[in-house]
Amino acid sequence: MKLLCVGRNYAAHIEELANQRPESPVLFIKPDSAILPREQDFFIPDFSQDVHYEVELLVRICKVGKHITPEFAHTYYDALSVGIDFTARDLQQQLKDKGLPWEKAKGFDGSAVIGQWVPKDRFSGTETLQFGLRKNGEWVQQGDTAHMLWKVDELLCYVSKYFTLKKGDILFTGTPAGVGRVAPNDYLVGVLEGKELFSVKVK
Ligand code: ZN
Repeated sequence: MKLLCVGRNYAAHIEELANQRPESPVLFIKPDSAILPREQDFFIPDFSQDVHYEVELLVRICKVGKHITPEFAHTYYDALSVGIDFTARDLQQQLKDKGLPWEKAKGFDGSAVIGQWVPKDRFSGTETLQFGLRKNGEWVQQGDTAHMLWKVDELLCYVSKYFTLKKGDILFTGTPAGVGRVAPNDYLVGVLEGKELFSVKVK
């Protein structure tokens, strides 16, 4: 399985990193080895001094899809959650400066936190879902899918032009504003529509 990730999908986050607003979704993939096993602590890797959390809405793919069309996009996912796209920001900046791929900064072991799945029919669509991240008990990120530049269904159509979706694949839909550095002993809790779906300790 693969983790399909979208970058720069919220205007306020694009501004905080002084990035340019893209004309089409920015895509990258994390390997399945990036998944942090449940109940396992996140260890800051020794190749970065500036690992950031990015909380994101996650979408679980439930069947094979290629060239998905908008009217059927909702039939390709069955569950939602929240997760973290851990990013070695210093390494990413070096790679961006050189015009090189981001994989080392985004796809390293443990860089993908995946919360508990909630069946999508428990929600009334994906248009206005509130989600966020608490660090050591305080909100550091609060997002609303209404502010996505590309909505969930649009993303599935776009992504499936390039990458065949397979059952079990996960879409990371981009982070809202408020990203920041993690430090040892931080405790991160991800929330979707008021429900805590993951917690991670940083070491
Ligand atoms: Zn991200």
